[in-house]
Amino acid sequence: MKSVRLVKIGEPLQDLEVPIPDIGPSEVLIRVSAAGICHSDEHYRAGVSKIDKLPLTLGHEVAGVVDKVGAQVRNVAPGDRVCVHYLVHCGQCEFCRRGLEQFCLTVQMIGKDRDGGYAEFIKVPAKNAFKLPDEIPFEVGAITMCSSATSLHALNKARIKSGESVAIFGFGGLGYSALQLARAFDCGPVYIVEINATKLALAKKLGAVAIDANAGDPVERIKQATNGQGVDISLELIGSAKMMRQAALCLAPLGRAALVGLTKESMSIFPYTELINREAEIIGVSDHLASELPALIEFARNGKLCFPSDALRVVDLDAGQINAALDQLRNSIDHVRTIIKVTSDK
Ligand SMILES: [Zn+2]
Ligand SMILES: [Zn+2]
Repeated sequence: MKSVRLVKIGEPLQDLEVPIPDIGPSEVLIRVSAAGICHSDEHYRAGVSKIDKLPLTLGHEVAGVVDKVGAQVRNVAPGDRVCVHYLVHCGQCEFCRRGLEQFCLTVQMIGKDRDGGYAEFIKVPAKNAFKLPDEIPFEVGAITMCSSATSLHALNKARIKSGESVAIFGFGGLGYSALQLARAFDCGPVYIVEINATKLALAKKLGAVAIDANAGDPVERIKQATNGQGVDISLELIGSAKMMRQAALCLAPLGRAALVGLTKESMSIFPYTELINREAEIIGVSDHLASELPALIEFARNGKLCFPSDALRVVDLDAGQINAALDQLRNSIDHVRTIIKVTSDK
């Protein structure tokens, strides 16, 4: 089968023919229809995030059609439309037993620790395949499994309640999902902090308050817009220590800042004045849980989470096109997400 693989860190991905994987009794073989190109994939290619085993087929945002199932598989059958939960977990360790599989002692990420979906086929454990309703296009099913799932987990970790105001730092794939999901929870006003003019215009068009981070201190702007109070929830989705600090400082008393973006920079906080006397919380957010996916898939099915076609760019399963899309992710792109269309819809 055709696959696009990372062969050497720091070098472009390559088109390579590899065998269609054999499946075990509890695994499924999926014919990939769509695979999202994620900013994390650029980090893997560049060596920012460590990859242990090469060559590797990238792609952790995958949707397609079940082709074959192992003898013990009951949850899906050949012909089912599915999307893939990217964390392969043991199901038996202490964390898995508590439903916290992102901390599984032997957790593997599809497209990072094992072959992913930049290919015509992928094999995954059957428990990682979730049925994708007919109303959801494969492209949306694929990206929902990463950026939307992480945004939902961030809002859950921040314990969002109806009517609460939300500040979103960064309006890429995560932010675009976070805005819609916050509204699915019936949130109050949403403030979107960005530097990209196209994204600021889109945020405004979608009814959020757009705040240009280049045009003054976003914390001041949020405070002014909220009668000096600040917001109940903030999400940092970029991975900037400066913005993480702003996400903490723009909180109202009892506010919660959920930090999602990755950075190696440190962040300073004055504990007394900036956290303690406001009982504000700073919360780390990592990945998401399989138990959150059914609600997410339902939001995508009922239209509360949607990606209009002009938010998406489509490329072929071709190393040249995928490398170019990864190059673009190093800078701010104007559209929301790029997706590899592997086979046409059915
Ligand atoms: Zn991703
Ligand atoms: Zn485990």
